[in-house]
Amino acid sequence: MTASLPPDLARLQTLELYLDLQLKAVRERITALAPATLAPPVTNWRLQSIRSAPGALAVLHTEHCHVIAWAQPSLPRLNDNEARLALDETGVESCGGCAPERALRQAPSR
Ligand SMILES: [Zn+2]
Repeated sequence: MTASLPPDLARLQTLELYLDLQLKAVRERITALAPATLAPPVTNWRLQSIRSAPGALAVLHTEHCHVIAWAQPSLPRLNDNEARLALDETGVESCGGCAPERALRQAPSR
């Protein structure tokens, strides 16, 4: 696999950006097409600040996301409306692990 990768940093970064965009598009399509799950509704959300990632400043998670299990007690807790507002902010992205936008669509607007 690595033998087919470009040898220089500039092209690797371009490839990384392309793959990020493709992955995001695939996840959005999956979210749009996936049937509603029977999982209990998410009632709280967690906002994880990202200091080292270029672009994203924060990532929104569902309350019980495995990605943030190690840090969950220290992360700010948001309600449904706060989570929706956060996702509309520039620099806030959805977690690829828990797909909070999917659960937010099922949450009632208040
Ligand atoms: Zn998550």
